[in-house]
Amino acid sequence: MDEKIVDARKLIADMPNITVLTGAGISAESGIPTFRGEDGLWKNFRPEDIATPQAFLNDPRLVWDWYEWRRKIIREAKPNAGHFALVELQKQLSNFTLITQNIDGLHQIAGSTSIIELHGNLWQVRCTKCGFTEQNYEVPLRELPPNCRQCKSIARPNVVWFGEIIPMCIIDKCLIAIESCQIMLIIGTSGVVEPAASMGLIAKQTGKTVIEINLDVTPSSGMYDISIRGKSGEILPLICQINKDYN
Ligand code: NAD
Ligand code: ZN
Repeated sequence: MDEKIVDARKLIADMPNITVLTGAGISAESGIPTFRGEDGLWKNFRPEDIATPQAFLNDPRLVWDWYEWRRKIIREAKPNAGHFALVELQKQLSNFTLITQNIDGLHQIAGSTSIIELHGNLWQVRCTKCGFTEQNYEVPLRELPPNCRQCKSIARPNVVWFGEIIPMCIIDKCLIAIESCQIMLIIGTSGVVEPAASMGLIAKQTGKTVIEINLDVTPSSGMYDISIRGKSGEILPLICQINKDYN
C-alpha cells in the first residue's frame, strides 16, 4: 500500500476528532460532473456565469433549465464507496463533522449525519420574495420556473451562487468544527472557491494535521501534511477503515 495512505490511516486511528471538507470530486465517481471537468459544461455555459444572482435576474428560465439538467443527473446518482467510507469513519469517532460544498445530498443518502451544507441543497426551492423554503424532488419540475406556494412569486434553488454570501451562522459552525478537530480531511475540492478554499489554511494555522485526497494537485497541496493523489472512492475506504488490519 502507498506509504502516504499508511501514514494517513495511522494518524486517523490515533486522533478521534476529525473534520472533513468535501467538494464535487467525491461525487464524481457517482457520475455527477465536477464544475471544472470537461463534462461539467452545459450548452457551453460556464457555471461561474450561470450560477449567479445576475444570471437569474436576466433569465430565470435559463438558470432553471441548467438546474433541471443537474437535478436529472443527480436524481439518477447513488452514493459511492467514498461517501460510505465517511459514514463508517463517523461511526468509529467521538467527534466528527462533515462540511460539504456539494448540493447533491449524497452524503445524507449514504447515511452521514453531522453535515454542514456550505452551499445549500439542490432539492430545496426558496421564494425570491417571501423566503418560503420547501423540499422539492420533482424531476422534471411541474412548473419551470417553479412558483412559491405561499405568495406565487418566482422561486429559486436554495443554493449559494457565485457572488453570494454564505450565512454567518454556517461559517461559524465550520470554524468551530475546524477548531475542535485534530485532523482535517480535504477531499475532492479544487480549492479555488472561497470560503472553503481557506479552510485548510485555517486548520494548518491552528495546528491541525491536514490530509488532502484529490485526483490532481491543487494550489494548496504543498501546504498540507499529506496530499494523496487518487480517486476518493478508492482511497477513502483504505484510510477510513481504521479497525481493519491491512498488511
Ligand atoms: P471543482 O469542480 O472545482 O473541483 C473538483 C475537484 O475534485 C478537482 O480538484 C478534481 O481534481 C477533484 N476530483 C475529481 N474527481 C475526483 C475523484 N474521483 N476523487 C478525488 N478528487 C476528484 O469542485 P469544488 O472544489 O467542489 O468547487 C466548485 C463548486 O461547485 C462547489 O460549490 C461545489 O459544491 C459545486 N459543485 C457541486 C457538485 C455536487 O453537488 N456534486 C457538482 C459540481 C460542482
Ligand atoms: Zn413566497
